[in-house]
Amino acid sequence: MEEEATAGEMTNGTAGEAAQAGKAAEATEATEATEATDGGTDQPSPPLVPCPVPLCGTPNDPDAATCSACDTPLFGYGRLRLYPDYLFNQGLAAARDNRLTAARDCFAAVVHWCPTDTEARNALALASLQLGDRDSARWHWQEVLRRRSGDRRAASGLSRLDRDPG
Ligand SMILES: [Zn+2]
Repeated sequence: MEEEATAGEMTNGTAGEAAQAGKAAEATEATEATEATDGGTDQPSPPLVPCPVPLCGTPNDPDAATCSACDTPLFGYGRLRLYPDYLFNQGLAAARDNRLTAARDCFAAVVHWCPTDTEARNALALASLQLGDRDSARWHWQEVLRRRSGDRRAASGLSRLDRDPG
């Protein structure tokens, strides 16, 4: 009986040690993960993305998988937030190069993602008009005015459509 008790204690002891070792291993992994994330900031500074949790708001690398402060999953969030700006700039560049179809498609994507973006919608309307799609131009300028009455670009675009019947 004495031997059995000893064996039992030894088993408990071993299990406890194993559990502690496991915790230590987890802690090491967490530290390494944090260091890996910090290491990314040495690269040419991509714009930081604030954590979407209102009470957190910690700036994170746009490629970070989780918020460094609260562990909220961020995957894709940075790109989702920054992509419309990127597309809008691509659209402006395409319009400058007279690549009107590409410009129109970029602006259309921004408007699809951000329906309240009247600047992008004005640009979409103008690109549509330049491509000869008067119905689309009219619809988007009307939509701008519906969202922001008194918008001058939309108003002048519509009057341009009315003056010049195609
Ligand atoms: Zn956070």
